[in-house]
Formats: sequence, structure tokens, C-alpha cells
Amino acid sequence: MPAEECVFCRIVAKQIPSEIVYEDEHVVAFRDINPQAPTHLLVIPRRHIPSLVEVTEDDIEVLGRLQYVASLLAKEHGFADDGFRTVLNCGQHGQQTVFHIHLHVLGGRQLTWPPG
Ligand code: AMP
Ligand code: ZN
Repeated sequence: MPAEECVFCRIVAKQIPSEIVYEDEHVVAFRDINPQAPTHLLVIPRRHIPSLVEVTEDDIEVLGRLQYVASLLAKEHGFADDGFRTVLNCGQHGQQTVFHIHLHVLGGRQLTWPPG
């Protein structure tokens, strides 16, 4: 998929509005438009990576960075002590709907397990 057709590439390029809460050279984080918890953030690489099955060794560092930024954001948004969840949906059974890899960060309420 060309980057101009990818909604998250367009968020990275600031071509469509989003509520960005963090950005650095490699990663951008913003609020999910349809939050499933009091705080629901998405952390994405700037570079277009479609899904977890399409990563290569070159992506190892940025994958770690997604989780690192989730940890920073949990502290900054005040739910690190109570706990939170990071989720990476992949493919059809994982119910991935946006094919630019993203890490969900859900905090601010008691979550349940197992997922549906
Ligand atoms: P997934 O089902 O894991 O692919 O999650 C995609 C997430 O992206 C969903 O939680 C959507 O609510 C969210 N989403 C889709 N479009 C936007 C957008 N323009 N801004 C913020 N979040 C979005
Ligand atoms: Zn993209």
C-alpha cells in the first residue's frame, strides 16, 4: 500500500489531524479515535511496516522502541503504578484493521482477561 493511502502514514505526515502525545525520530504516539479505556494510545513507527508478520531484522530496534515509549507514556499519563496493557493485533484473527503496525496502550481501568 502506498504511504499516501495509509491513514497512519498520513497521521505521521500530519496530513490528517490526530492528538499526538509523543514523537521522536523513530516513533509517533497519538490518542485512539475510538478509545477502549480512559486512556487509549497508539504507538507507531514513522516508517510504514504493515504488520508483525512483515517485520525484518532491520525492525528489531523500532519494535523495542514501541514498548519503551509505551512505558514512558504509562508513567506520564499516571497509570504505570496501577498497571496497563499493551496490545499488538496482527492479521485477520487478531482483528487488525489498520495495516501500519501499531501498539495499543490501554490504561485507566481494570482490564479483563482473556480477550474476546
Ligand atoms: P487495530 O484493530 O489493532 O488495527 O486497531 C486500529 C485502531 O486504530 C483502532 O483502535 C481505531 O480506533 C484506531 N484508528 C483508526 N483510525 C484512526 C485515526 N484516524 N486516528 C486515531 N485512531 C484511529
Ligand atoms: Zn503507513
